[in-house]
Amino acid sequence: MIDIEKIRADTPSCQEIIHFNNAGASLMPKPVFAALQRVLEDENRLGGYEAERRAQPDIQGFYAAFGALLNADPDEIAYVENATRAWDMVFYGLRLGKGDRVITHSSEYASNYLALLQQSRRFGFEIDLVPSDRFGQIDVEQLEAMLTPQTKLIAITHVPTQGGLVNPAAAVGELAQKHGIAYLLDACQSVGQIDVDVAQIGCDFLSGTGRKFLRGPRGTGFLYVRRSMLERIDPPFVDLLSAKWTAHNSYEFAAGAKRFENWESNVAGRVALGEAVRYAKAIGLNHIETRVAKLADVLREALSDIKGVQVRDLGQTKCGIVTFTKEGRDPQFIEERLREKGINVSVALMTSARLDLEARNLSSLVRASVHYFNTEDEISRFVQAVKNI
Ligand SMILES: *Cc1c(COP(=O)(O)O)cnc(C)c1O
Repeated sequence: MIDIEKIRADTPSCQEIIHFNNAGASLMPKPVFAALQRVLEDENRLGGYEAERRAQPDIQGFYAAFGALLNADPDEIAYVENATRAWDMVFYGLRLGKGDRVITHSSEYASNYLALLQQSRRFGFEIDLVPSDRFGQIDVEQLEAMLTPQTKLIAITHVPTQGGLVNPAAAVGELAQKHGIAYLLDACQSVGQIDVDVAQIGCDFLSGTGRKFLRGPRGTGFLYVRRSMLERIDPPFVDLLSAKWTAHNSYEFAAGAKRFENWESNVAGRVALGEAVRYAKAIGLNHIETRVAKLADVLREALSDIKGVQVRDLGQTKCGIVTFTKEGRDPQFIEERLREKGINVSVALMTSARLDLEARNLSSLVRASVHYFNTEDEISRFVQAVKNI
């Protein structure tokens, strides 16, 4: 089980703040921050290239760590500066054209949906929205009924940014494989709080970020690309790392997922993110998943007991993200009052989840996202603070 005292000792600011903004950016544990500092200090002392040379074993370790975390091969992993660009490298590299169809869901992340809109304007493919089931998550039966020979891509979000649900990613994967349709999964909010296994889910591509439930540094992200799908994507950008200039007029892409990387990157961030993955693995993703789900259940239950508070989470399977509103109180106002008390939450705005929040007539929500280092005592103090607003 999780040694909560040790974990909290590794996260010193737990003593000063209540951090329920892990879906925004979590707190780095000590070994992760130390890795970041170590590389930055080397850069300062030895020079950037020299520091990178010294960090080589850790840089290579990044791929092995993510391979082990996601049940992929190390060469199916790319380091990308954030989850949005990781997702983009696949999506903008797909050759979608007139007559093609792409399936997504109302829980899709705003930046992904904006990219879908932009590319559909350029190339004339159609976007199909799969309906939600009675729990508000992707309706897998209806999804199968919607598939056509023109459907070229299923692009969905595992855990949406604006609510507690977990979409049935593996059931979607089964359909995608059965019908031979490319499957791009945004796992930005799931990796680090849920045991995510790309083989079990059956996705072809998966994008994620460092700073959220993985507890890595900001400005870091990653991409998984199934080896058999490499040639299906024409990377939207190319540089002298992702490709080799083989003759005057020709080039070859780098082997594996490296073709989706940039030559220049945040070396300290990559090393620290690799460390964050090892830290999470050492605790055990199954233990993390269980504890996060339990804490979030306790929080939902306690919030629903407050007069005027409504928990807004959808989904049958829920996770560590808890959203709510309080009658007569703007979510922004609640966020500010909590911040004054040293409690961090964030606000989900309609503009970042239009398809979902507009349909539910909600202009914004308070989002409280817990992680395994949080405690039931913090939840009690949080709930009291919400009561007092
Ligand atoms: C935060 C988030 C992203 C974007 O991640 P970045 O690293 O900020 O690009 C994508 N999808 C979901 C579901 C998110 O919550």
